[in-house]
Amino acid sequence: MTGKSARNENDVVKKALEFPRAVSGRLRSFVQTVASPLENEKSGIKYLWIHVGSFEEREANADCGCDGHEEMQLDDWYNVVDETAALGVDTIIITAGNCLTGHPEIWDICRWAQDQHDMSIGIHTGLRCFDEGQVEQLASLHCEKTRIFVDGGDANCLPQVSALGIQVFAADGLEDGATQPRCDLPHSMCCIDGGGKMYACGLVIGQDEFDYGNSKEKRVDHVVADQNLRHSIPENTSTAARRCNGCPPLLERKIRSDRSCH
Ligand code: SF4
Repeated sequence: MTGKSARNENDVVKKALEFPRAVSGRLRSFVQTVASPLENEKSGIKYLWIHVGSFEEREANADCGCDGHEEMQLDDWYNVVDETAALGVDTIIITAGNCLTGHPEIWDICRWAQDQHDMSIGIHTGLRCFDEGQVEQLASLHCEKTRIFVDGGDANCLPQVSALGIQVFAADGLEDGATQPRCDLPHSMCCIDGGGKMYACGLVIGQDEFDYGNSKEKRVDHVVADQNLRHSIPENTSTAARRCNGCPPLLERKIRSDRSCH
């Protein structure tokens, strides 16, 4: 991909995430948005998904007795952000489960991405109430380059966040009862968990067949371009327990779609 075409594609993503209108109550069909190929969709890293996960997930990993679950340090995250920014990625989604308090590194990652690289940041959470400290942290970010995505939420579900001028969106990827089709979006995305392990997407974290190795040892663009790795998610992988919520290209498409309807 030429630098110019990469910039053009990134402009599309950037504009989509600068979507200024309220999210409509009803989500568009995941099947419709994902099953059909996107215009201009090409392989190569375009989306970075950081999945620090819930406390429970991290504790489960820590207790499994395996090596290799060493947590990412801030410098490790900064390296990932620097690396992907150099590759033209201009938006990061950070999935943080329900416990932002347990992941104070989120705020530093956000600030680094925004201050050093002018990136847009989306924080995906299940939280329905931010405490005073979290609101303070949010207020310290660039409001126009920050989005909050809430599981099962809508544009009005976090008034204390909206009052800061930060837009809030639903994070849901699937409508209830919808079937997830085969998905090729990981051809342009990498998801990194709190231990630095890279996966095709957040839905398949922990599954060996989608394990791309550790971001401290391998380059993100190399694993995304590696045709020997699996970049296609089988139909029906998304379940009630693990859903496509927070998926960066999915959120971008939904936002773009909602904008076109207003
Ligand atoms: S979470 Fe995975 S399977 Fe679901 S839409 Fe995103 S890339 Fe596809």
